[in-house]
Amino acid sequence: MKTVLVIGGGASGMAAAAFAKNENTRVILLEKNEKTGKKLYITGKGRCNLTNASDIETILGNVVTNPRFLYSALYGFSNEDMMRLMEENGCPLKTERGNRVFPLSDHSSDVIRAWNRILQERGVEVRLRTEVSGLVIRDKTACGVRISPGKEILSDAVIVCTGGLSYPVTGSTGDGYRFAEESGHRVVDSIPSLVPFDCEEAFVSDLSGLSLKNVRLTVRNRSHTIFSDFGEMLFTHTGISGPLVLSASAVCGRILRKEGRLSAEIDLKPALREEELDRRIVRDFSEEQNKDFRNSLSKLLPGKLQAPVAACSGISPDKKVHDITREERIALVKLLKAFPLTIMRTRGFSEAVITKGGISVKDVDPSTMESRIIKNLYFAGEVLDLDALTGGYNLQIAWSTGVLAGRSASAV
Ligand SMILES: Cc1cc2nc3c(=O)[nH]c(=O)nc-3n(C[C@H](O)[C@H](O)[C@H](O)COP(=O)(O)OP(=O)(O)OC[C@H]3O[C@@H](n4cnc5c(N)ncnc54)[C@H](O)[C@@H]3O)c2cc1C
Repeated sequence: MKTVLVIGGGASGMAAAAFAKNENTRVILLEKNEKTGKKLYITGKGRCNLTNASDIETILGNVVTNPRFLYSALYGFSNEDMMRLMEENGCPLKTERGNRVFPLSDHSSDVIRAWNRILQERGVEVRLRTEVSGLVIRDKTACGVRISPGKEILSDAVIVCTGGLSYPVTGSTGDGYRFAEESGHRVVDSIPSLVPFDCEEAFVSDLSGLSLKNVRLTVRNRSHTIFSDFGEMLFTHTGISGPLVLSASAVCGRILRKEGRLSAEIDLKPALREEELDRRIVRDFSEEQNKDFRNSLSKLLPGKLQAPVAACSGISPDKKVHDITREERIALVKLLKAFPLTIMRTRGFSEAVITKGGISVKDVDPSTMESRIIKNLYFAGEVLDLDALTGGYNLQIAWSTGVLAGRSASAV
């Protein structure tokens, strides 16, 4: 009987272990935490957006880095396969806005329970509190792992499912990058992604907690637009966050790292063209002729935003509304359509939903997940240089690559 070792009991590791197991294969899952699925537990704000019910082309369209690498994995174990597997194992599902799939119970623990049941039923040996410190490689072939303190477990294949660097408290501390580098693989520089931005403007801290629905966020590198989308964002003590901002970080993160800063603008009134917004302001102003400008924006903007917009407009806050010139009003319209912010950096890995970067897919065979450098060594999940937008896509990457690695490792 052959033995397959899986390092990491997160999403990809549980999938890999479950699908490596057959009557001819002994599978041992090594997890350094006291339980499996620690990160899975906090996904989707504790509800676990485990996949997305869109078609595969749409899923691939939401993968930001190396989507083509995922063809075999996604077609081999699709979102529908994942949904069926959960439903068959006691975890009924529901689909919400944007085709996001969640457990019907709204509890991520039900997804973990389903996987633990699958692992147990298939006869996978799960060893908790077992930290792998290195790979055992002989003649360019993986033949086991080292576990602290200095003990080896030998095997016929090893699957590395150690995740990335985000939320390191969950156990993802980048160990797989070290294993890969030590055995001659290229590792693409890792940065936090799906992560809030810090902004230069001091006033953002006054706006902390303010949520803006239905705004357009545009991010530019000098005059070149690198991100522009519509949705929901919120201000934090140091900058901006929310779904729209997380998506922007996935697209702009590397450019930001290189350039040191990026300019952003928020269209606070995306449903109105400039002329329409101007007409609206003329109407508002005509009803409040004798008010000071600083008190005249209440119909247009949420309370917290009125002071910074007034301050950026260049119009004196004490000016009576009836004294505001046409030029000043037009400038105000332009400001509302493009409220400027300066993005200085992303927040760190401890606040990032995922890691961008990781083991280069050039060193991995996409049809098996096997290393092109070390025989019988496989990689799956976030440890690879793959990342997607929010919506259940990142977990689907973990499931699909995990299943493919598991099937391939037990087939040889
Ligand atoms: C707050 C948050 C919310 C998220 N929400 C969603 C969501 O709703 N939908 C979605 O699609 N994605 C979401 N994600 C992303 C998703 O959780 C990850 O992409 C996914 O968990 C990656 O799976 P993985 O198996 O590759 O890595 P992980 O889940 O990180 O698992 C890696 C495992 O390996 C173990 N390990 C590491 N090193 C060793 C070692 N040396 N020895 C033994 N074990 C080791 C770790 O302890 C860990 O259990 C979220 C992420 C975060 C942080």
